Amino acid sequence: MDDTARRNFAYDTEAIRAKDVAHHVHPWTDFADFEKTGSMVVAEAEGATIYDSEGQGYLDGIGGLWCVNLGYGRDEIAQAMADQARRMVYYSSFGHHTSVPAAELAAKVTGLAPAGLNHVLFGTGGSMANDTAIRIVHFYFNRLGKPRKKKIITRHDGYHGSTYLAMSLTGVAFDHQGFDLVGEELIARISAPNCYRRPAGTTEAEFLDLLAGEFEAKVLELGPETVAAFIAEPIMGAGGVVVAPAGYHRRIWELCRKYEILYIADEVVTAFGRLGHFFASEAVFGMQPDILTCAKGFSSAYAPLSGTLISDAFHEVISVPQAPGALFTHGFTYSGHPVCCAAGLKTIEIMEREDICGHVRRVGPYFERRLKSLSDLPLVGDVRGSHFMLCVENVADKETKALLPGEVQIGKRIAAAAQARGVLVRPIAHLNVLSPPLILTEAQIDRMVETLRDSILAVQDDLV
Ligand code: PLP
Repeated sequence: MDDTARRNFAYDTEAIRAKDVAHHVHPWTDFADFEKTGSMVVAEAEGATIYDSEGQGYLDGIGGLWCVNLGYGRDEIAQAMADQARRMVYYSSFGHHTSVPAAELAAKVTGLAPAGLNHVLFGTGGSMANDTAIRIVHFYFNRLGKPRKKKIITRHDGYHGSTYLAMSLTGVAFDHQGFDLVGEELIARISAPNCYRRPAGTTEAEFLDLLAGEFEAKVLELGPETVAAFIAEPIMGAGGVVVAPAGYHRRIWELCRKYEILYIADEVVTAFGRLGHFFASEAVFGMQPDILTCAKGFSSAYAPLSGTLISDAFHEVISVPQAPGALFTHGFTYSGHPVCCAAGLKTIEIMEREDICGHVRRVGPYFERRLKSLSDLPLVGDVRGSHFMLCVENVADKETKALLPGEVQIGKRIAAAAQARGVLVRPIAHLNVLSPPLILTEAQIDRMVETLRDSILAVQDDLV
């Protein structure tokens, strides 16, 4: 079955596009380009396929934005949200109110989380979850009577979001251009654990020693009494699907224990099945973070939903009654929004019933193998990632790993060639990233990989 066959729609594409260009400020957009081309109007979607307003179908290799984990058009989730909206659309969870889905989801998600992460503060996005993590880390050390312990260690090429603080934690230099950062006196950066670009002549094990040594040296330079937390994605996403050398997270986590530094795992992308487990920190990387942030797949993108999960030990400190009249002054109008929590509950129910994690564990290695088959192409320097979080790094020279000049826009050109062939892959600078819905079949994976091969070859022919 061709799952991207054309459909007949009656949308007025030109009128929609004109309104959009005139009034809609798109996130993360090159406006010069945008003014010229406008947007693809994504009108409908089903399974792993999206349809533009002209009825053309595309296999979605991006999963929305690493988030539509269960695929599109799940009636059950829509129904659960509609039922909750009719029953009781919203009540604040500030102070002493809750809703049935917020309480149920808090218990459910902490039950699935790594050991000890028994409490969750809800939000509506990954940036918010990370901002929350840092605010409450600072609150925690204030409560412990250690007001100097405030610094956060982050990594070059880490991505933690787009609010002011989350972007300041982010280490992708490109994303900082033209904007300011906040809290620079509190943020220290260390190297990305990028095995492909590790120092020439080092083995992966030696590279790990270098990275761990750099972390410890940074802690000692800053003074352990000033370092509050380390924040890291288990696999870097937007910074280039960077998989650290084996043992990295556990090693850094052990150093964090040594110096009383909290470990914040940013699982905004990796949680909810993308690596074959509800959470990757413990199941894949063998460590128990003090705080874990998640979003995206939490509701499979059917509603804005995020969580900042905290350990018992941490909760014990921040939940100590404060001075009479004082409050834990953190949270958002839509923290624990009942309709979003209903979407989260139904998402988890479906994931368990359909054994989505098992599917990813079974099919993920096939996906990796198939994508690695592109390594024979002259433009492909590296194929990396894990399970349903993968990328191709395009280079000018496989030997030296030199990149093509930026103006070639190699990632974008390959993505455009793939789109013309009915498959969406995400361009990030010189990379093409794949993070499709987790329901992809082997046949769909074959189609995606073969289309990418044809697209890379077509662009390569264009370059000469
Ligand atoms: N953390 C990571 C690892 C992410 O990949 C993202 C978004 O892609 C975020 C945080 C920010 O999430 P949001 O865009 O929902 O604020």
